[in-house]
Amino acid sequence: MLTARCCSRTLALRLRSCPPLRRSLSSVTENDILHFSKILDPPSIISTLSPIHSSLEDLHPFNNDWMRKYSGRATTVLKPRTTQQVSEILKWCHEREIPVVPQGGNTGLVGGSIPLNDEVVISMANMNNVRSFDPVSGILVAEAGCILQSLTDYVAPHNHIMPLDLGAKGSCQIGGNVSTNAGGLRLLRYGSLHGSVLGVEVVLPDGTILDQLTTLRKDNTGYDLKQLFIGSEGTLGIITGVSILTPPAPQASNNVILALPHFDNVRPLYQTVKGQLSEILSAFEFIDRTAYDLAVKHGQGRALNEEDVEGAECFVLVETSGGRREHDEEKLNDLLETLLSADRPLINTGVLAQNPAQFSSLWALREGVTEAVSKEGKAYKYDISVPLSTFKEVVDITRNHLQSQGLLHEDAVSHVLGYGHVGDGNLHLNVIAKAYTQEIQDALEPFIYELVASHRGSISAEHGVGSMKTHALHYSKDKISLELMKKIKEMFDPKGIMNPGKVIA
Ligand SMILES: Cc1cc2nc3c(=O)[nH]c(=O)nc-3n(C[C@H](O)[C@H](O)[C@H](O)COP(=O)(O)OP(=O)(O)OC[C@H]3O[C@@H](n4cnc5c(N)ncnc54)[C@H](O)[C@@H]3O)c2cc1C
Repeated sequence: MLTARCCSRTLALRLRSCPPLRRSLSSVTENDILHFSKILDPPSIISTLSPIHSSLEDLHPFNNDWMRKYSGRATTVLKPRTTQQVSEILKWCHEREIPVVPQGGNTGLVGGSIPLNDEVVISMANMNNVRSFDPVSGILVAEAGCILQSLTDYVAPHNHIMPLDLGAKGSCQIGGNVSTNAGGLRLLRYGSLHGSVLGVEVVLPDGTILDQLTTLRKDNTGYDLKQLFIGSEGTLGIITGVSILTPPAPQASNNVILALPHFDNVRPLYQTVKGQLSEILSAFEFIDRTAYDLAVKHGQGRALNEEDVEGAECFVLVETSGGRREHDEEKLNDLLETLLSADRPLINTGVLAQNPAQFSSLWALREGVTEAVSKEGKAYKYDISVPLSTFKEVVDITRNHLQSQGLLHEDAVSHVLGYGHVGDGNLHLNVIAKAYTQEIQDALEPFIYELVASHRGSISAEHGVGSMKTHALHYSKDKISLELMKKIKEMFDPKGIMNPGKVIA
């Protein structure tokens, strides 16, 4: 059955990502559904099994990912409302050896939130309350299922912002963000979640509730256990609550898009921008020409004037966030003047936002690339950390490689492009194809991973490992680190029920 499902050419990719058949784990039965009905109210259970009898359509959003690249066969989705309910569900699953997949907003890009077989999906969507917010310290304690945008809206009247922002903010959940250690657009300014998350509440695979939900900024009492759950992609437990430090909202934000004649100018430009804007620089984002053209084609933000983009090989979006508008504007204008009046200018032109609508439109050009790529075709996404000086080289080498394999034509690969967070050394290398095929996959992997390893880079800068990169972890982690990771997994989850086949195969 499994083989038949996987053997068509375009579905061959799934064969590779299917784990070996599970040896001892169980499938959900009608008896399990009866037990879950004692824990949850009827609307919180979606199942094709008796006595619920949901349709396959009801399960579809939970069995398929945002890119339509990964699909699962879960028969049952549970939507707990309390930590206690999560605990009771996991206790039962642990006893019965039923594998589970925690699911947040399902916006992950590496297949982490999608079952590989018929695991039970535990959706956190119903755990969406703010538990507390202290406007003096800026510490927010929220349930894991709170959507990032809702939390942004919640803290805004108190003059605070969330320390992270990403294109998926309207759907992704804070629990998913913490579980993937999401990076995003504000990392340059506010650092990673390993710094801003102060505490987590986690239900361990056997149902034990681990209460690490402190609001302390300083706590040097031994091992910092919460760090293990940040970025563990639901393989060690289910995060049910998060305590997070939110920074004060900047009083003034501005942005400018700079058009560059050559990629080689990005590095000296970053140095100049950092030097001149210093404490008010809050983002330095890169998109190459192909990414820009696709964003415009698919209606993400407003296109710049023809004369502004003419001769541009790539673009950089610079954002400032500071305490006083006049001061920040003066600094930004000085920067533009320096850049445009240089003997050998690093930029062709700069388009400065004049009002909030233009500010959003310039951001949309950058934030909208992910969506534009998915509208253009099937995306092979590589989210890598490499030295900034190699961003273009990595994109070009990949494109040339695909060409040499005879795959760069409209029936196979149509675009190879790069964009990302320059300030964090994070390049999103995207290959857009007509379909997901084994041939393209084989051309890209391990080629790209070897390329990344040759630069001592990371095969996953921010999206995580999921089911996509389990086989490639050794390109970024040495043998001893991998062995320790396996031991940690075994200690927390000896029966292997927690998101099996993800991160560590
Ligand atoms: C348009 C777009 C833009 C994006 N931009 C960025 C970006 O800039 N930076 C970035 O880092 N990512 C980005 N992403 C990827 C994605 O949004 C992030 O990985 C996000 O943090 C996932 O959150 P989620 O709630 O959707 O989690 P899901 O996709 O539901 O799950 C992701 C992983 O976390 C686990 N998980 C989810 N919730 C919990 C929980 N409560 N407890 C334990 N495990 C859990 C899942 O099992 C899975 O392994 C983008 C995605 C899209 C579609």
